[in-house]
Amino acid sequence: MDATAVPETTTRPREPSAAAGTKYVYFFGSGRADGNKEMKAELGGKGAGLAEMTNAGLPVPPGFTIQTEACREYMRAGRVSAEVDRQMLDALHRLEDLEGRKLGDAASPLLVSVRSGAQASMPGMMDTILNLGLNDESVLALARRSDNPRFAYDSYRRLMQMFGSIVMEVPKQAFEEIFEAKKKKRRAKLDTDLDAQALQEIVTAYKKVYRKHARRDFPQSPLEQLTLARNAVFHSWDNDRARHYRRMNQISDDLGTAVNVQAMVFGNLGETSGTGVSFTRNPSTGAKEFYGEFLMNAQGEDVVAGIRTPLHISEMKKILPGVYEQLREITQRLEKHYRDMQDMEFTVMEGRLYMLQTRNGKRTGMAAVRIALDMVEEGLITPDEAIFRVDPGQLYDLLMPRLKEEKDTESKLLTTGLPASPGAAVGHLVFSADDAVAMAGPAKKTPVVLVRAETTPEDIHGMEVAAGILTARGGMTSHAAVVTRGMGKCCVAGAGEIHVDEKSRSMTVRGVVLREGDWISLDGGTGRVFRGKLDTVPASPDDPGLMKILSWAEPYRKMGVRANADIPRDARQARAFGAEGIGLCRTEHMFFAEDRIPHMRAMILAQNEKERRRELAKLLPMQRADFIGVFEAMDGFPVTIRLLDPPLHEFLPRREELMVEIARLEMRRRKSGKLADLRRLLARVEDLHEFNPMLGHRGCRLGITYPEISEMQARAIFEAAVAVARKGAKVHPEVMIPLVGGPKEMAHQKKIIQRVAEEVFAEKKQRVDYMVGTMIELPRACLLADDIAEEAEFFSFGTNDLTQTTYGFSRDDINRFLPSYVEQGIVKQDPFGALDRKGVGQLVRWATERGRAANPKLKVGICGEHGGEPSSIEFFHSVGLNYVSCSPFRVLTARLAAAQAAARDKLKMETGRTK
Ligand code: ADP
Ligand code: MG
Ligand code: MG
Repeated sequence: MDATAVPETTTRPREPSAAAGTKYVYFFGSGRADGNKEMKAELGGKGAGLAEMTNAGLPVPPGFTIQTEACREYMRAGRVSAEVDRQMLDALHRLEDLEGRKLGDAASPLLVSVRSGAQASMPGMMDTILNLGLNDESVLALARRSDNPRFAYDSYRRLMQMFGSIVMEVPKQAFEEIFEAKKKKRRAKLDTDLDAQALQEIVTAYKKVYRKHARRDFPQSPLEQLTLARNAVFHSWDNDRARHYRRMNQISDDLGTAVNVQAMVFGNLGETSGTGVSFTRNPSTGAKEFYGEFLMNAQGEDVVAGIRTPLHISEMKKILPGVYEQLREITQRLEKHYRDMQDMEFTVMEGRLYMLQTRNGKRTGMAAVRIALDMVEEGLITPDEAIFRVDPGQLYDLLMPRLKEEKDTESKLLTTGLPASPGAAVGHLVFSADDAVAMAGPAKKTPVVLVRAETTPEDIHGMEVAAGILTARGGMTSHAAVVTRGMGKCCVAGAGEIHVDEKSRSMTVRGVVLREGDWISLDGGTGRVFRGKLDTVPASPDDPGLMKILSWAEPYRKMGVRANADIPRDARQARAFGAEGIGLCRTEHMFFAEDRIPHMRAMILAQNEKERRRELAKLLPMQRADFIGVFEAMDGFPVTIRLLDPPLHEFLPRREELMVEIARLEMRRRKSGKLADLRRLLARVEDLHEFNPMLGHRGCRLGITYPEISEMQARAIFEAAVAVARKGAKVHPEVMIPLVGGPKEMAHQKKIIQRVAEEVFAEKKQRVDYMVGTMIELPRACLLADDIAEEAEFFSFGTNDLTQTTYGFSRDDINRFLPSYVEQGIVKQDPFGALDRKGVGQLVRWATERGRAANPKLKVGICGEHGGEPSSIEFFHSVGLNYVSCSPFRVLTARLAAAQAAARDKLKMETGRTK
């Protein structure tokens, strides 16, 4: 490729002509840019920002952006068209004219950076290459012109390092070894302690390493460097890391990235030069303060790479007061211009400031609330806009205590796992559920953190008393993760560096041994694990700022928000967060309690109906008392109670445990009543054994084979309702039949419930309003929704089971293959996390429409985990459901997400805060 081959008469990029067709390259420089901030799809976030800042008259080094269409072309054909090359060369010449220098010239070299930049910011894609255009000759010119050979060779070695590792995939380590060896030899503490001579020697050594790994020499032609770097950016769009990131964040593979080529400015020119990042507001607290960090005599990523400890931005006031004031003024202008908090990158070259990037800054939930409110107060945005400035998923942050970040916090870091459930936990280490209960004490006064290789349902009692959970294995949908999120409890999962030794009650992390009783601190928001006892910042669920935002958002909300709560305590919690009823009260939770399980077991072991009824009669008053508590807590709001759902064997001890126990007693050869009991129990456990309990004898199938169970539960519900109504309170029980597959099952159970209701009302001489409906969690129920709706007064989608049965994926086993499915793009994301709109969502829509057609008064809600997930909530809004129900700790999230979905409809508002 030869630059001189391009005829001078071709159209300049500034003058888009019909004949030229696609405009691939957008120029920016000397106060004017072809693009602007609206063009993120073409220019990427970075390119659009550079154009916008240029147009605003800010000091931005000039350059050009090769738009995403060129990347899509590259993906299709494996190379770009000649037209892209032609437009790129045109723009390069224009840049050279503007700067009065030529790329990599031996006398007066122009150097550039090559920066990737997609529409959404995407870590995992190609890194930036700086100082491009340097070669053996231009480095001499740079040294001469700057009168600073140290700077010239530092820039050259940086180019070789970045270009080598990024474009040619030379292992980074190969370069680092050389660099570190040189530092050691020269007894240099910091990179900046190496002189020109040392850096020159490093360049020589780098060339050898480069040739060895790349099997060719480092390209001396500046244009070849540029072309290879550009293509590497396009190529990196499809690398594994980038694809993985897109999967996790639901970004389409088809978008492509832009490439920015920009004249270099140097922060490594000496003591009046430097580089840094700054924010217009504090991204963790939201406080309106100029915030940021910088390093003098440094380039590019040095600030974030942790090579030297950066200085707080306020220090700049002392070092370069003029630049400090200018930067402050610019950042304020940018915030006004973008009407959102900005996160910026800048470089100072010999006392002159240059802006290199601006974007809407990421922030914590707390900061989001504060910034939105402040900006309304400052007149920067309207309350309607403020509604969208807070990410509903982030509200969870406000409900959880957080670790207080201090200067030395990072130094206590032990390891990092997955941020499975947010919040902070500080407590004494324990290694088993029983020890957790013992150490926590009866009043749970002593905080404990339970560490397990992974958790199982048998650990529940320990998880309940623990302040937080840490596991060595398991992912974001592991048992530990799912259960703790439901409990609103901090969890770090899958911290693979931890070796747990339950026997010796200790764990080892990178050679550090921690024992039972030692203090440990977890950050569930980031997955970090610290040794010792860190301080925490308490939760602020009734934060007045949040309440204000909600007061602006909620008038738009169309769907109700209920909570899933099984016991009065959770119901009260849900009310405190603003739940408008209970969408799912699981009655089996009540049977698992220690004082009840013996009766439950006796009921299951009963030989005949009469015996069974006798045991059920003992359970009746207990259930009634629970329901009274829940009704009272809900204070007139509807309460949906689901009849017994899990297979009966879940209430019995495990087969293996029984066999061990029996064998032990047999060894002692003592005839005891206990042995006979155990044998009987084992026989029953074997009786009840199922090959696939998930699809087995459960749900309404239990109530149909043992109608007396449904009868008892109905009686407990109505007696409780009447008792509460007697005291003058309002009650609205909604009795829900689980796992219905067609109208006959529904009719069968409804008949029992209605009969018992009438009996109770007659006995007590008092009626209450109630409804009978069904949980929709089987595809067949969706398909027959119209027939079922003739029997049911309400539907509640159980989207956990509906997802399992639609996909045929078991939620408990999905981790074996899900990572690989996501990696290969077979599924976009965990369908148990965000609702699968295409499949499961289609069933939901169909069932809702058909159900309502058959029964116009049908009330429709959803009570799966998806009821608390913002994108699923948006979908449920679009289907027109009456309410969503989620765990108490998700109620605020659901309220805001449902309000945003409705407001978006009404205001036709753009969504998405951070780009
Ligand atoms: P990222 O997307 O990872 O932030 P950037 O393209 O912004 O990557 O660049 C990485 C670093 O290089 C940033 O610190 C940026 O300020 C710096 N940088 C990029 N281009 C230039 C340039 N033309 N002159 C000086 N520094 C640059
Ligand atoms: Mg950047
Ligand atoms: Mg279910």
